[in-house]
Amino acid sequence: MLVPTLGCPARCRYCWSSEEGSPVMSIDTVRETVEWLKGFQDRPVTITFHGGEPLLAGADFYRQALPLLADGLRYLTPAFAMQSNLWKLTPELAQILAEYHVPIGTSIDGPREINDSQRGEGYFDRTMKGYDVARAHGLRVSFICTFTSRSVKERDAIYRFFQEQGFTMKLHPALPSLRDRNPDPWALDPEEYGDLLVFLLDRSLEHLDGIEIMNVSDLVKCVFTRRGTVCTFADCMGTTYAVGPDGSIYPCYRFVGMEQYAMGNVRDRPTREELDRSHAGKLFARYREHVDQACRECAHLRYCRGGCPYNAIVPSRGEIQGVDPMCRAYRRIFDEITDRLNREMMGACILDIGGPPSTTSKRARPGIMALMQRIITR
Ligand code: SF4
Ligand code: SF4
Repeated sequence: MLVPTLGCPARCRYCWSSEEGSPVMSIDTVRETVEWLKGFQDRPVTITFHGGEPLLAGADFYRQALPLLADGLRYLTPAFAMQSNLWKLTPELAQILAEYHVPIGTSIDGPREINDSQRGEGYFDRTMKGYDVARAHGLRVSFICTFTSRSVKERDAIYRFFQEQGFTMKLHPALPSLRDRNPDPWALDPEEYGDLLVFLLDRSLEHLDGIEIMNVSDLVKCVFTRRGTVCTFADCMGTTYAVGPDGSIYPCYRFVGMEQYAMGNVRDRPTREELDRSHAGKLFARYREHVDQACRECAHLRYCRGGCPYNAIVPSRGEIQGVDPMCRAYRRIFDEITDRLNREMMGACILDIGGPPSTTSKRARPGIMALMQRIITR
């Protein structure tokens, strides 16, 4: 992840990832990042521009940064992505991003009224205006929907909105933060998050040809393939790094700007071993060991891996004292998918061995196997 700035023009009420007056990354730092990665990595790389709001870096930045990264790291076949609220997307910027096939994840929390009540007055219209510019230039846009303790009560209306708009949804639970600001009153409780995931699983099964809920697809894939397919459910250490505006390297974008978690700087071209020896490197390694112990009896350990290490250390202000507090939600949805899948397979076996013809199965709603097929063919 490249974080060109932590600045952001929006004022979302639950946000912890922006910082007023944050500097903007220089092109020199992009150049240094390319040089660092050349000696660091030999597997294909995805570079996601994150923030703050990455478009604040402006058209000149991307006009120079994208060819530098694409050409300098050609042998790593770099793919690009961006997470942006789209407010600053001009036709000029859209043109540059389209040349490099940069898909964009933007954020909308539901219909205008619900969205603006937690992201601020005028947010919805600004983002939708940027969305029109993106579409006019052929950019692929998906939508992150943050569910808070308030908006989760409107989950039917929010799902209906996404369905009507035909927007692919990726949901984020509002989460507590290590920073001083206090988004806790907005944070989604693990029980509510678990209920929400089951609710969205049911909607996905009811509307098999409807919008994709990316989290549901990822969770089903985890159970089928028995390995984590997104960072939350994988050992993210060593596969994900974030470079902040000044070239500091962090374990992920959620730590950017917190000096105590800086693992090194691209200017010094640290090796993987040197990053592992930093405070954050050791912390993540200890988390892995902790998970092996704490989750050893959990049937989902192989593809959950204790959830997100950042979430895990928030309640204890940076110490490892437990696993991701969303464990209850993960366990609930993984149990649900596994149980339903087992029932489906059991039903199929009974039919195979000449069991009673099932009038119910003829009428049954599509199940997890049908959903997995749909995910594969999407
Ligand atoms: S710390 Fe959490 S959010 Fe960051 S890469 Fe790891 S799992 Fe993902
Ligand atoms: S569901 Fe909970 S107990 Fe199981 S691996 Fe994930 S965090 Fe650990």
